[in-house]
Amino acid sequence: MLVKPNRYQNRGSSCCRRLQRSRIAYNYFNDTVTIDTTCLANKYEIPLISFVGVNHHGHSVLLGCGFLGHESVDYFGWIFKAWLKCMLGRPPHVVITDQCKPLQMAVAQVFPHARHCYSLQYIIERVPEKLGGLQGYVAIRRQMYNAIYESLKIVEFESSWADMIKCHGLGDNKWLQTLYKDRHLWVPVYLKDVSLIGLISTKENEGLTAFFDRYVHKHTSFKEFLDKYDLALHRKHMKEAMADLENRKASFEFKTRCNYEAQLSKVYTEEIFKKFQVEVEGMYSCFNTRQVNVNGSIITYIVKERVEVEGSEKGVKSFEVLYETTKLDIRCICSLLNYKGYLCRHALNVLNYNGVEEIPSRYILRRWTRDFKHSCNQFHAPSNTDTYNPVHLYTHLFNSALPVLEVGAQSQEHYMVALKELEELLDKFDIEDSNSM
Ligand SMILES: [Zn+2]
Repeated sequence: MLVKPNRYQNRGSSCCRRLQRSRIAYNYFNDTVTIDTTCLANKYEIPLISFVGVNHHGHSVLLGCGFLGHESVDYFGWIFKAWLKCMLGRPPHVVITDQCKPLQMAVAQVFPHARHCYSLQYIIERVPEKLGGLQGYVAIRRQMYNAIYESLKIVEFESSWADMIKCHGLGDNKWLQTLYKDRHLWVPVYLKDVSLIGLISTKENEGLTAFFDRYVHKHTSFKEFLDKYDLALHRKHMKEAMADLENRKASFEFKTRCNYEAQLSKVYTEEIFKKFQVEVEGMYSCFNTRQVNVNGSIITYIVKERVEVEGSEKGVKSFEVLYETTKLDIRCICSLLNYKGYLCRHALNVLNYNGVEEIPSRYILRRWTRDFKHSCNQFHAPSNTDTYNPVHLYTHLFNSALPVLEVGAQSQEHYMVALKELEELLDKFDIEDSNSM
């Protein structure tokens, strides 16, 4: 936990504690990180900022949190740098934050190579407050959601958004102007090249829960928060440990006879498998798959799908899928692979149409697999490890010790063995030190 004191607080120097567990989690799940500031000023009394990732079960994991004096580029920058230092200097590939200029500037300063996106969920949560008072609000919201969630191409979004603005005379609305200016940072259709691993909502009503929801409220005091922090962390850690244990013996119930379902039942964790299963089942709502263009080895298909429109009415939507026949590369215009990290029903349909029996391994993200943590722990010292540099030695030892922590925490017996061995190791260091004096 990080604290940046302001001039009204006299908390002494900044502190960095309770980070070990977050650092272990970050060692595995450091690809995409949400920097959550929703509780800052508008929800809780304490200005809290949390770094949240997603584990291999699709659960949110805390990768660190801290308190700020106030919102400014300097303060955000300070806390980002402090967090990065605690995470051994490895920045995430993708950073998701609220829409906020100081945050945007601090992200650009501290994580210059990360792809920065705004959280769509935070923007959607503000719609009633920002537009609720306008005449024709329900129709405006409907058109806005259609533009955001239903556009498969940038040109579709641009045209739907322009229609909404024109239709309702919203050209002077400042909030909508800012949203449109920043559209490349939050509208899904502009984020098709970003690996978002489920951290942004791509459907209406697809809510994502903030890590501390249900643990803190706006009257929570600082001291209470520290207790709740431990409780939240403990429960989430237990949840992951239980899921790891259950996944080791799990066998899943099949819903189809499709080979893709059987193939990935052996690989994915249960939560991710269930989400993927929805796509396999969804293959049966697709029909009339047909080839529309051939360019060398790249074939373009159109896959039609029966979809629900406005709740219950049935409609038909067409999806363009590109298939490269020599390398078995596949890309669907819906981009579910980028948004969620697994193949969509349309791509599966085209693979099936071409008689591909198994999903190519590059479309099975390692981070969703049951043995992901184990495979990360097969650690070898990088060739550039400097054995005279204490930071390099620390990093190497830290990563090498992770499997001991993971396996040691799995049962009372393992825990006792690990503890005993660690104590003996420390004794051994003491003996070696006294011999060398
Ligand atoms: Zn698709």
